[in-house]
Amino acid sequence: MPALSGLICPACRAGQLLSGLAGAISCGACGASVRTEQGIPILAHHWRALQADVEAARQVKPNWYQDEQPAEQVSPWRHHVRKRREYVERVIRRHLAASRLPRAARLLDFGCGDGNNLVWLSKYSDAVYGSDYNLLRLVRAQAQNPGATIFAADILDFPAENNAFDVIFFNHVIEHIPDDACALATVHRILRPGGLLVLGTPNEGSWWWQLAYRRDPASLQNTDHCHFYTAATIGAKVTASGLTLEETHHIGWGPPDWKLDGRIRRYKLVDDLFTIVGRTFLPTQASSLYILATKPPA
Ligand SMILES: [Zn+2]
Repeated sequence: MPALSGLICPACRAGQLLSGLAGAISCGACGASVRTEQGIPILAHHWRALQADVEAARQVKPNWYQDEQPAEQVSPWRHHVRKRREYVERVIRRHLAASRLPRAARLLDFGCGDGNNLVWLSKYSDAVYGSDYNLLRLVRAQAQNPGATIFAADILDFPAENNAFDVIFFNHVIEHIPDDACALATVHRILRPGGLLVLGTPNEGSWWWQLAYRRDPASLQNTDHCHFYTAATIGAKVTASGLTLEETHHIGWGPPDWKLDGRIRRYKLVDDLFTIVGRTFLPTQASSLYILATKPPA
């Protein structure tokens, strides 16, 4: 049975969750039993409303809310995705070393999707948690990560104790959330003092990627991103949440053309060359941003 510590009851929003016979979960305070769907604990207070949101999004963009998320090895951006993963692994190892921890007590993938990242994140913690609001993706995440605690939750009403996590990985999710300040306030609340946030998001506010949108206006109609950040704008939001900004990292360069980008960056030589030229001549115009932040001591 994966760990439940650090999570709280979605009904009374206070009690700790206890596991009983045959995987049944209930609240130690109010006694409410947590229901599961397809084996996934539902820890969202307004689950029906959330599911209606996912269903509406799935009707409009079935590929974005339904299709399997490609594993690193088969993604058209496999070399870029590998470079991102290697960066994130490096910063988590550095954080654990600085905190004198062999492994994180608890690590959360906040918006874990199909759980592809949990597969390698599990190296860095004995208790790995993944949450999402898309049940279809959670079922895949659980199948890929049988030892992880996978649960349905709302990022804006999150069922976790204060200071619950040592490391939070929040990857390419925040650009989809209208109330991004509330999402970051949640991160601040559930991260332990001294804990690390690794926040990844597209650098779509930069002029290079704004150029890509201008050259293909339909892509702007089509995107479900509601924020187009630059390093400065996302950094300011993170700081406003009370977290301490530790590092801003630009990663991934390509042509300002979405289709061409996907076609040519599958080749390692092309991706490597764009990285060298981009980092040298357009260092702030990368396709992705990583923000590292810590929670100051109480
Ligand atoms: Zn309760």
